[in-house]
Amino acid sequence: MKPDPINALPSHLALRTEGVQKSYGVGQSRTVALKGADFEAHLGEVTMIVGPSGCGKTTLLSIIAGTLTAEQGRINVLGFPLHEMKHPKLTRFRANHVGFIFQQFNLIPTISVIENVSVPLIINGAKTKVAEARAAEWLAKVGLAGRERERPMNLSGGQQQRVAIARALVRRPRMVLADEPTGNLDTRTSIEIMGFFQEINEQGNTIVMVTHELDIAAYCKRIVVMRDGQIISDTRNEHRRSARQEIDALNQAELEAKLA
Ligand code: ADP
Repeated sequence: MKPDPINALPSHLALRTEGVQKSYGVGQSRTVALKGADFEAHLGEVTMIVGPSGCGKTTLLSIIAGTLTAEQGRINVLGFPLHEMKHPKLTRFRANHVGFIFQQFNLIPTISVIENVSVPLIINGAKTKVAEARAAEWLAKVGLAGRERERPMNLSGGQQQRVAIARALVRRPRMVLADEPTGNLDTRTSIEIMGFFQEINEQGNTIVMVTHELDIAAYCKRIVVMRDGQIISDTRNEHRRSARQEIDALNQAELEAKLA
């Protein structure tokens, strides 16, 4: 008999969902967001779920993150059977293994950038000094050294998203989830942010993102298409765009324009 891929996740997979269903509301106002979504993401890969607004992307991502529970179906993330877990186990799973990045950044506006990045460590019991030292390292990695004591609103959208990336990674989660991370950013900044995700991935992180923009999906190795609450295709992108090369080309073009 073949092993059950949900109970025993195959070694190349980071997660698998099977027949996941979820609806919101009741009676006439009931909306079925997921109609049996079968999804998998490979360990160490960037997977992009792409589909039109309203097709269920955020709902699926929230179920994988453990912030929302499915009505039906089975979900194994990093070996954890989420469909069998409840609070506080789900909360612990999320805090220990998942880094989440939002379209709206979701930074705390009343505290500094370094304090924002320290929050996950402090919640986990770290002393402020230790947490801030680690947060400063991550801020430097995302190119924000020197901006540690600023408030988020003094930074550009792209910089705020980089703070959010540092905050999501500061506890070194095994899985990074991002919901429309470039949705609020201009084209150049979007490419820069996708470049960060490509770098994070080169360090071995598994990343699952959602977007409604096909050109953003082109920066990912695996593209999963979603429609009407279901996954309709899962393909390997052999022509992944390199954000680093594109930014270098943009910089070069800008330099040449200035010199002309
Ligand atoms: P996407 O991320 O692809 O835009 P969502 O998962 O946000 O899709 O939403 C899927 C469907 O569920 C949509 O029709 C949306 O209006 C509905 N929906 C999402 N969240 C809620 C909610 N909290 N209450 C009611 N309906 C919701």
